[in-house]
Amino acid sequence: MDNLNKKVALITGGARGIGKAISLKLAEQGFYIVVNYRSSSNLIDELIKEVEKRGSKAIAVCGDVSIFEDAKNIIKEAVSAFGRIDVLVNNAGITKDGLILRMKEEDFDQVINVNLKGTFNCIRHVSPIMVKQRSGKIINVSSVVGIAGNAGQVNYSAAKAGIIGVTKSTARELASRGINVNAVAPGFIKTDMTDTLSDKVKENTLNGIPLKRFGTADDVANVIAFLASPSADYLTGQIINIDGGMVM
Ligand code: NAP
Repeated sequence: MDNLNKKVALITGGARGIGKAISLKLAEQGFYIVVNYRSSSNLIDELIKEVEKRGSKAIAVCGDVSIFEDAKNIIKEAVSAFGRIDVLVNNAGITKDGLILRMKEEDFDQVINVNLKGTFNCIRHVSPIMVKQRSGKIINVSSVVGIAGNAGQVNYSAAKAGIIGVTKSTARELASRGINVNAVAPGFIKTDMTDTLSDKVKENTLNGIPLKRFGTADDVANVIAFLASPSADYLTGQIINIDGGMVM
């Protein structure tokens, strides 16, 4: 594919949920889009059409971000399609909830591997490219649970807290190379991930949200579009809560 001097954004887990909203929002903002997916191959054709309707182009790359070599290949495919990567959004994530008294070792490991190690893997492989470009924006998707903790989510909160550490350390390392590294910490956002929670949990959560509504995928995508834009050039190492005031 040709590169018409457009900027290029890579979104991990970009085919559904929050990732899809980010892919479409960044396409609207004029980015060429690289969508990584793991299992949602059935959603890719439609997503590419949606991007094209917004006047942009997209390619999709299958890969599991928790695997170092897959992450390397995702970055390689993005560069071979569009020649550069201006924005990396580390959005891919999973939950495997359970109380500490019962949590299985593999449920701890899997959640850390996808959320935290996946974020490391993609940053590790995109950094040399952004350093060479002397520009880039890395945006990690953490969670308010990484800040405040949550019963039943020891694995997930550890991974999301780890992402905050990765964000701040990488921001310090790469600032002198013209690369900004920030994170968002969403609260309760309506997607497949939160759909499975019980009505009781949803009601309790809603009671703790000052703005009195759950967030939408677009609420998150809007802030990420800002972080990806030149308007956020003087922001680095920051964690921005998108949670209706849940954690402050
Ligand atoms: P979702 O609807 O369950 O979607 C998860 C996405 O992650 C899917 O696109 C999935 O891709 C991708 N994914 C999972 N494992 C992957 C892997 N190993 N490699 C590559 N992609 C993988 O979840 P969501 O609510 O949109 O969440 C998106 C991000 O926001 C996650 O990091 C989540 O932790 C974070 N977050 C969500 C909320 C919330 O309330 N929903 C709150 C705070 C933070 P496939 O479908 O292709 O497998």
